[in-house]
Amino acid sequence: MKRQRLTILGATGSIGASTLDVVARHPERYEVFALTGHSRVDALADQCIRHRPRYAVVPAADEAQKLQSRLRAADLPTEVLAGEAALEQVAAAAETDAVMAAIVGAAGLRPTLAAVRAGKRVLLANKEALVMAGAVFMAEVRKSGAVVLPIDSEHNAVFQSLPADFGGDLDGRGVRRLLLTASGGPFRAVPIERLAGVTPAQACAHPNWSMGRKISVDSATMMNKGLEVIEAHWLFGAAPDRIDVVIHPQSVIHSLVEYVDGSVLAQLGNPDMRTPIAHALAYPERIEAGVAPLDLFQVAQLTFERPDLDRFPCLKLAHRALAAGNNAPAVLNAANEVAVAAFLDGRLPFLRIAEVIGAALDAVPVAPVSDLPAVLAADSAGRGAALAALR
Ligand code: NAD
Ligand code: MG
Repeated sequence: MKRQRLTILGATGSIGASTLDVVARHPERYEVFALTGHSRVDALADQCIRHRPRYAVVPAADEAQKLQSRLRAADLPTEVLAGEAALEQVAAAAETDAVMAAIVGAAGLRPTLAAVRAGKRVLLANKEALVMAGAVFMAEVRKSGAVVLPIDSEHNAVFQSLPADFGGDLDGRGVRRLLLTASGGPFRAVPIERLAGVTPAQACAHPNWSMGRKISVDSATMMNKGLEVIEAHWLFGAAPDRIDVVIHPQSVIHSLVEYVDGSVLAQLGNPDMRTPIAHALAYPERIEAGVAPLDLFQVAQLTFERPDLDRFPCLKLAHRALAAGNNAPAVLNAANEVAVAAFLDGRLPFLRIAEVIGAALDAVPVAPVSDLPAVLAADSAGRGAALAALR
């Protein structure tokens, strides 16, 4: 069997590391073509030494020099590249078969789109890219024939619960609703009056999942679920009123699909991202992921709650942006990135995150987005409006 060659964008992050963990279990199936990292050059060097990629990508010349000398000392053939264009280059390279898109935030859009345009098999973790560019992104997918496989656990669960040859036609396949589960994050049961004083460390202490800091805060505000509703809309062609959010604190059911005959299909498992990663890497085959088998006796109980929109106003804001369409999801995403960064920096109280995003949505007029420059303009308008609201 020919080995699949992989580019991992955002290799040094939580998803990147989990991807390399799965890949290392199957050296006969996968070969690492390129790894990219942003701030943790030493971690990237260790990954290169272990996985021997053809290319490694860092943000700028300084880091490149540092990394290249470490790799030379280890006698590695890896070539170090720097800058955003290099991210696009390794995502679209003819020698790579599949691209794990695991950069966090809007920074992942261009390289992810480059992989899509090159018709790669794209393992999509970087939900922000799809949220901000929805229509443009999906048009490029159709044009190039790229295969997009969802890594987000909910979307991967929906994908697994849809018919194998699902072509985007929910009605034709008898699907009534998609149900996205949400853990509710670390503040699901904290008294609302205590939310004003929560710290970044508390927000990042997720009860079930271990993740990067930005998505951890998104889970605490439930903006993560809002972004995921928008993501599901684009991935599965589902109208907003056919996507429901169900709070399920155990994070065992990763999402469900309801059919017109009353059947509800779901995917279950331990909360470990190596499951969706292994699924997407091997699809349509199945491979060992290193994940412990689900012990239902240990889980004992699965419970469900309706989301409380007063507690989680970010969920409401995401629905508002999806309903407005056009540039609104890009503005929402950009404002959220600005607000979350300010919160993580100790410059913005937790409850002000939603206010800043709401103010940005109020400030930027809804306008159509028909190409990448328009998406990037909406992103910068959202950032500008959020920064103004921070002051
Ligand atoms: P992380 O913060 O752990 O890692 C982010 C990666 O992106 C790192 O490799 C970092 O070096 C790189 N990066 C950051 N800024 C960059 C920039 N400006 N340019 C280039 N590279 C940059 O994040 P994560 O938790 O691994 O999440 C990655 C993506 O996957 C996010 O979009 C997140 O929403 C999504 N996701 C994560 C999980 C999870 O369990 N961690 C689950 C579902 C979806
Ligand atoms: Mg998710």
